[in-house]
Amino acid sequence: MRSIPHWINGAKVSGSGDSIDVLDPATDRPVATVDAADPATVDAALAAAAAAFDGWALTPLSKRAAVLYRFRDLMIEHRTELAALITAEHGKTLDDAAGEVGRAVDSIELACGGPALVHGRTSLQTGPNIDTKSVLHPVGVCLGITPFNFPAMMGLMMASVALAAGNCFIWKPSEQDPGVCIRIAELLTEAGLPDGVMNVVNGRQETVEQLIDDPRTQAVSFVGSSRVAQQVYARAAAAGKRVQTFGGAKNHMVVMPDADTEVVADQLASSAFGAAGQRCMAISVAVIVGPTAEPILEKVAERANRIRVGAGITDGTEVGPVVSRAAQERIRSSVKAAIADGARAVVDRSTVQVPDFEDGYFVGPTVLTDVALTSPAYQEELFGPVLVVHRVDTLDEALELIKNHQYGNGASIFTQDGAAVAAFEHRVSAGMVGVNVAIPVPVAAYAVQGWKSSAFGDTGLNNASWSFYTRPKYITSRWDSVSGTDFGFRPN
Ligand code: NAD
Repeated sequence: MRSIPHWINGAKVSGSGDSIDVLDPATDRPVATVDAADPATVDAALAAAAAAFDGWALTPLSKRAAVLYRFRDLMIEHRTELAALITAEHGKTLDDAAGEVGRAVDSIELACGGPALVHGRTSLQTGPNIDTKSVLHPVGVCLGITPFNFPAMMGLMMASVALAAGNCFIWKPSEQDPGVCIRIAELLTEAGLPDGVMNVVNGRQETVEQLIDDPRTQAVSFVGSSRVAQQVYARAAAAGKRVQTFGGAKNHMVVMPDADTEVVADQLASSAFGAAGQRCMAISVAVIVGPTAEPILEKVAERANRIRVGAGITDGTEVGPVVSRAAQERIRSSVKAAIADGARAVVDRSTVQVPDFEDGYFVGPTVLTDVALTSPAYQEELFGPVLVVHRVDTLDEALELIKNHQYGNGASIFTQDGAAVAAFEHRVSAGMVGVNVAIPVPVAAYAVQGWKSSAFGDTGLNNASWSFYTRPKYITSRWDSVSGTDFGFRPN
């Protein structure tokens, strides 16, 4: 069985902390163990990152970008291997895992543009013979704490820009699927990244807290559940760190009466059930405006019933298992409770069994309607392949539902009606919005950012994080000689 090490100062380091089993969600069998870092190991990573900082910050932008170019090529070359590592520990299908690696590559490509994107501004004659400029410095040691659901992509959405901007990085991946992160760090070293610039430290809450509290850490990025996002935000802010944290979601898709019901059913099924509903941008609530609810429910049900649930490595699997036994039990009991509370199960495959994988954490596609707005199945993020369908009469009502929900990560509308789209774009209370797009994750050149309890802090990931990973310095200069004292503080 594999033993997943830490990656510190350009080398694998075996920890001496508690050993955690990494389980294959399709079989419930351990595929690896990972050490939770003991305090000395965490300290070694911080020391390596702090020591590497000056050298990396002084490395020309173009040389940093050149490392990222080589890294991008290595990621593509090793895409199949990386996807297999993700599937073994996360459970998603190989195809989906390869897609995740592709999305990670998008972020690296954005960061390769660092030489064109990291720049300040200069204004001439801001006073008599005075010029003012702003320049951008890297911030130092940056921390990235990432969730299980995109074990490769989320960390690289943070690290690519952080590294391009001249920072050193410590990545604390999810303990549920950390294997791919070590391979990624290895590829960065192979691409020419100096030792200590990227480090991976494994562990849980205590590891995260030690990393946040340490004075060598300057900036904290987190992606995961909202509960932890809020804790991490508060802790890092209290310690005086710059911090951005991204949390959970309950993404609504509004379907207008004119929308093509076949297209809507395809898109809803792909978004709600793909990756077993474990994408933060998955649609988990459909809000159908007007009379098309029944035909859409019928078509979604037909798709939900025929989706092939199985192990991620099995050819033809469309939906793999969820990540853990705890997640499986949580989702199943939420479905059960919603039904007991009056919801109608249009499709309930939540207790699906997969032949030859009886111990796997499978939850099949499930469609609920008549779910009370107060029900946890509507209020909470289930993070499983469960779609809640509401019927409303007007777009206003649909927008009101979205506005009143605690989460505001993403939302979509399906229609050809321009006026409805304009109203939706203007009024919807979510950070990432789709128009006839069911998983509206913006491309890397824009940003990942949620509203309400879906994010804390004011910077997004990817292109928006250049400002997070740099700090400005404002320089006011004049080169003529000014003689004579002046004790006033005059405007220029
Ligand atoms: P999680 O909050 O359980 O864990 C995230 C990370 O925090 C892990 O590395 C974990 O080890 C660490 N952690 C757990 N408890 C901690 C604590 N008390 N203190 C400090 N660190 C702690 O999340 P998860 O289950 O791994 O991921 C799923 C969640 O991530 C979902 O809520 C999903 O919506 C969210 N997510 C959000 C986005 C986004 O862009 N908003 C993207 C992906 C995933």
